[in-house]
Amino acid sequence: MIAEPIYILGPCSAESREQVLLTARLIKEACGNVPFIFRAGAWKPRTSPCTFQGAGAEALAWLQEVKNTFGINVATEVATPEHAEQALKAGIDYLWIGARTSANPIAVQAIAEAIGQAKGILIKNPVNADADLWLGNIERLEKTGLPVIAVHRGCEHKPCWKMAHAVRKARPDVPMLLDPSHLSGDAAQVPELMKKVPELGLNGAMIEVHPNPAKALSDDKQQLTPEQLIGVIGPLSVRCRSVVGPMSVDNEFTELNWLRAEIDELDAKLWETIADRMDVSRRIGEWKKANHIRPLQPQRYQQILSQRQKWAEENNIDADFVAQLFDIIHQQSLKQQL
Ligand code: PEP
Ligand code: MN
Repeated sequence: MIAEPIYILGPCSAESREQVLLTARLIKEACGNVPFIFRAGAWKPRTSPCTFQGAGAEALAWLQEVKNTFGINVATEVATPEHAEQALKAGIDYLWIGARTSANPIAVQAIAEAIGQAKGILIKNPVNADADLWLGNIERLEKTGLPVIAVHRGCEHKPCWKMAHAVRKARPDVPMLLDPSHLSGDAAQVPELMKKVPELGLNGAMIEVHPNPAKALSDDKQQLTPEQLIGVIGPLSVRCRSVVGPMSVDNEFTELNWLRAEIDELDAKLWETIADRMDVSRRIGEWKKANHIRPLQPQRYQQILSQRQKWAEENNIDADFVAQLFDIIHQQSLKQQL
């Protein structure tokens, strides 16, 4: 069991030898005596082929230089067995499998079979919120005999606490890190999200750090400067030790905190759905105006209400509550149409 937080810090992409070495030096200075693993992506799984795809195998030598110059462990992402072989040959200590590759069990299996000696392998959650697939990937990687670490990076820039909670419960023995950078896609949200690390008894974090985020060749909106990193790592390291004790040991509030995180996630979805619904209502209002139809159509309202009440019955939820809830929503929808 890991008592100290694991930090994996560095730029999204290894852009050049200078950028990699400068970032490593600045993070080392910012972290003081807080140990960390340096990360940088050599091969980047980008959405568009027109964007920076990573420096490729050339970047492995830059990571090797960081390892030798600063005496720290280094990590990179692998998406194919060839990547894994090349990275390990270059002395990369930790490999991580990204969210897009994690969605493909055949790819994960092939990488698992290609991995020889490494200090550990990290597996991000798949791009879709599939706890079972994430658990299956953990199992596939455990066959290597290497330490496996799970990384919660959310889906579509939102947290998936329900999925992470399920994985945590099924495999409390597997360390889990938070990746607040990919989870939010927004550097400004990273400090708040990092509070979840001690609250949920997580084992640390993977955070993207760039000397000049605005100029980054990938994920420019979500990377912290080394100065911003100090504000996140410093208090957290102290808090983890002094308030909740060793990070992997659950305290009495951990389960409650997980459940509250799930509630917050559901409320955020509820709110998003309500906002989307109001938007569609407004568009219906415009259509009705153009076609000279009154906003309130009693027959349609009755239809909505009886169908929603049927859902309530099916799910064993109080029918009055459902009637009131949809009445409020419908009233507000009508207002959008006036
Ligand atoms: C990354 O860590 O830079 C990365 C591409 O991550 P993810 O697979 O979570 O998108
Ligand atoms: Mn990235």
